[in-house]
Amino acid sequence: MIFDLLSLSPPGPTHRFTLALAQKKIYKLPRAQTAAAIASSSVPPSGQGALVLAEHSSGQLSPATLSAVAAASQLLSSAATASSSSSSSSPASSRPHPITVLVAGDDAAGVASAAAAAASSVAAMLSSSANPAAAASASSSRIITAIHPRLGHGLAEGLAQLVADLCGAGSSSSGSGSNGGGSGGGNAPFAAVAAPGSTFGRNVLPRAAALASRDMVSDVIAVDPGNSGTLTRPVYAGAALETVAFGDGGARFFTARPSAFPVAAPDASASSSSPPLPVEALPASEVEAAISAASPAASWLGDSGGGSGGGGGSPDRPDLGAARVVVAGGRALADTAGFASIGSLADAFGPGVAAVGASRAAVDAGLAPNELQVGQTGRSVAPDLYVAVGISGAAQHVAGMRASKCIVAINTDGDSPIFSVADYGLVGDWREALPKLEEAVRARRGGAK
Ligand code: FAD
Repeated sequence: MIFDLLSLSPPGPTHRFTLALAQKKIYKLPRAQTAAAIASSSVPPSGQGALVLAEHSSGQLSPATLSAVAAASQLLSSAATASSSSSSSSPASSRPHPITVLVAGDDAAGVASAAAAAASSVAAMLSSSANPAAAASASSSRIITAIHPRLGHGLAEGLAQLVADLCGAGSSSSGSGSNGGGSGGGNAPFAAVAAPGSTFGRNVLPRAAALASRDMVSDVIAVDPGNSGTLTRPVYAGAALETVAFGDGGARFFTARPSAFPVAAPDASASSSSPPLPVEALPASEVEAAISAASPAASWLGDSGGGSGGGGGSPDRPDLGAARVVVAGGRALADTAGFASIGSLADAFGPGVAAVGASRAAVDAGLAPNELQVGQTGRSVAPDLYVAVGISGAAQHVAGMRASKCIVAINTDGDSPIFSVADYGLVGDWREALPKLEEAVRARRGGAK
């Protein structure tokens, strides 16, 4: 299936769809789809570790991948503690839980570059972990790569099938149940299968879970630090939290909200003292066998639009999900010229510091592209500083930014709900406030343009 459809082409030999991802993706689906036959793949050594699906683009590893590794590692430690307390076996703290990171794509150079980045950053992260089980896992963890034309551009069909196969769902690797069902029960090669809670992860992992006949939990924000291996996720647009547990010993599929599992950039000394994880390529024949079993559904036709830092603005802006500062505008910005003031304030913080966000009303009014939307149906962010300009603070918007460390709101209406979550509020017109704020930020940076 295709998520988050933006537009549909007129009738023709194929249906064309446009989706909102970091960039708009254009896909085509053949009108008649064939049923998929499930093929086998090489299953990594069992050991009740975790498989983490890496997100990457142009050879760069997304920081959200490391958040997913952190969440998977926490879940395995938590679950291991539970099982060791219910048995007399060795303590969980001494038992490693290997992490296998899958870097898949269609471009050998890009995959190699992202895999190398994952090999050093995951090694540094695990070996510097305060958690003894995570630290012990560094020596048994690894990166696996898969290259195939249908694994490019984050297309979910091939990726989901590959992940499911690696979990033992391939018919010949498990030999039981519909779709193999090999990841269920105690013979699962992985105790957990995680992906970043980004559009990419939300697109791929539910399909993989379904192919592996497993349940999954989306948008996890916490792993029980106790000994039950339970997961917490927001519900009702973040108004309530739900704690869930998987019912059996099979693989736990989940996506982790990146802002809930912040990962510091590995420091140079940790990187140099911990050797990178080994990188192993999955045999091309096995990748081909897995992919040929996937639905032939979508194929990539092209990208359009800017990156998440763009919004018609500067390429120096960081990704919205990773930015230290987010300046977001709402409906009150009125038109694209008004919304440009948001970008101008963001750029005043200097290159690579601030990203631009938007409310859904601003997106619906055409002031900002869809990929800049923050909220329940947009991105979840947790920057050090979130500046909400002309945004009312509807629950659906707040759901995506309430975890920000410091919230500044500018709004003409002193009773606006945004002020109930703001640390600092200015009741006033953005037309007056923004130029002064921008001037103050630039002055603070020593007049840098
Ligand atoms: P408004 O609600 O119109 O608020 C504009 C604000 O600007 C007002 O508070 C006003 O006082 C202020 N203002 C006016 N003039 C000025 C001025 N000159 N200077 C300063 N301030 C001024 N919304 C999201 O943002 N993200 C989501 O992901 C999202 N998901 C949704 C999902 C569902 C299922 C639904 C039903 C809704 C969702 N919404 C989402 C929409 C949400 O309910 C609100 O409608 C939306 O957030 C409002 O956007 P806004 O604050 O920009 O506009």
